[in-house]
Amino acid sequence: MKKLQLGQIQRVILIFVKNVGYYEERLMVQVQYIFVTGGVLSSVGKGILTSSIGKMLQIRGLNPTVIKIDPYVNVDAGTMNPYMHGEVFVTDDGGETDLDLGWYERFLDLELKQKNNLTTGLVYRNVIEKERRGDFLGRCVQIVPHITDEIKNCIKSVAKSNNTEIILTEVGGTVGDIEGLPFLEAIRQMRIDEGFNNTLYVHVALVPVLDVTNELKTKPLQHSVNELRRIGIQPDIIVARSPYMIDMKTLRKIALFGTIPEEAVFCSYNAKSVYQVPLILNKQGMGEYICHRLGYACSESNNRDWFDFVNSVIKPKYEVNIALVGKYAGLSDSYVSMKEALTHAGAAIDTQVCIEYLESEKFEKNPSCIEDLLKYDGIFIPYGFGSRGSEGKIDAINFSRKNDIPFLGICFGFQLAVVEFARNVCGLKNANSIEIAEDSPHPVIDIMPEQRNIKSKGATMRLGSHKIVLKPETLAHSLYKTEQIFERHRHRFEVNLNYLNILKEKGLIFSGNSADGRRMEILELPDQYFFLASQFHGEFKSRPGKPSPTYYGFIKACLSKKMGNAKPVFSQL
Ligand code: GLN
Repeated sequence: MKKLQLGQIQRVILIFVKNVGYYEERLMVQVQYIFVTGGVLSSVGKGILTSSIGKMLQIRGLNPTVIKIDPYVNVDAGTMNPYMHGEVFVTDDGGETDLDLGWYERFLDLELKQKNNLTTGLVYRNVIEKERRGDFLGRCVQIVPHITDEIKNCIKSVAKSNNTEIILTEVGGTVGDIEGLPFLEAIRQMRIDEGFNNTLYVHVALVPVLDVTNELKTKPLQHSVNELRRIGIQPDIIVARSPYMIDMKTLRKIALFGTIPEEAVFCSYNAKSVYQVPLILNKQGMGEYICHRLGYACSESNNRDWFDFVNSVIKPKYEVNIALVGKYAGLSDSYVSMKEALTHAGAAIDTQVCIEYLESEKFEKNPSCIEDLLKYDGIFIPYGFGSRGSEGKIDAINFSRKNDIPFLGICFGFQLAVVEFARNVCGLKNANSIEIAEDSPHPVIDIMPEQRNIKSKGATMRLGSHKIVLKPETLAHSLYKTEQIFERHRHRFEVNLNYLNILKEKGLIFSGNSADGRRMEILELPDQYFFLASQFHGEFKSRPGKPSPTYYGFIKACLSKKMGNAKPVFSQL
């Protein structure tokens, strides 16, 4: 063979180096994009549908990730009132996001990032920062192409950092909303950029029943499809959200007016549990249809675990009744992750957890109402902010301690359990949290030192995942069965270390601390049947089949006590 001259070798290397970038791009997996839009009204179930599509792909061995688009102008959900808009979900990396990320994490057992939630505020902030920097110098900055390009880049950058082949993007709001237009325009363009085979539009809309005729009505859905088309998006799949399974005639009508094949129309009807939705849609062939459309020849693998979990949710053997004492304001979504964590814990022991949402203010206005708590198997005090209703919560904690009713407190619930103990066991009159009473003579809960000078409210709490060290031979340790855990946080206040000695002397056990020992993370009272509270939010990491240990312990104790059994010993489980 003829030997290569030095010059030739140099040329070959040069060509290789020049082409590395090109080949690197070629070698990258082609990402496919599924977009979910909603029609007719909000709360039509886009979050559950998006999670269910993810689940149907997952059981076929695919590895999707999910993005939620929220067209509101807030930069993130952190500054929104949870009692009006639903819970603020917290990601591992400290993002304060829309609650739908919680559904994606629970259904798909993922750990999503702040980046997986995109808002109008965030997109505009990025573009305006670029404009101020001079990135667009000389040009007029416009919605198309600058805002739409930013949206597309954000979506694509999630694909890159997750190393995934499929990205599901849920567009929040309803088709036709003014705020949603730039996002819909961006996803419309993505079909041109990425190609037909790599993009799929799923549209879900309400198909109500008119009670006069008891008939399913498809007209609102047809109008929402037309609205989508007006923007330039022809859906590939339509999901009818109806109270019961739609008949063939109605299905054909939807297909005809939607200009899609009959096999591309599916029905998501009311189910006992949201966890049934992927199974319902999969049975109708939706998973197979999507895979076929995206060019995957994958068959369904094992979904036994999901099936078993669903069965224990819908056909439980036992039941416990829990009083959730909070600031409910009629919106159960304000505690959705907590509700689900209680469900996961119950499912692990074949138990249905019935939650009654009680306004804590009721105990302040009418103190005799507190006796009503005797009828519950457990008392749960959730997160919270501000003074309204805090005394009622403290009363409920006091009642559970005195009557030995199983108790679980989360975040604000943890802080108020410290206040209750300080007042009623340590004898510290008017002990309180600085958040509630700045002039308290015994501020047992104080602002964290690093929070003192923070004035701005957005994304400034102690957020996300932090390490916690558990004390051996405590309830917390027996529940987690390990010495170190990571849990998610969202707070500004904490146990005041000046009161640590007296609290401990009187019997309060802090069984979990931050790694430096300066932050109290879990408290427990060993003489009670079950009395535990955590500064962190175990609910954000609770999953079907993998309940959060604190929630599991609580529900297990509620059931044991209800059945008249001795208090459960967790290390022997
Ligand atoms: N308001 C309390 C704090 O900021 C508790 C927060 C919460 O319950 N998430 O520390």
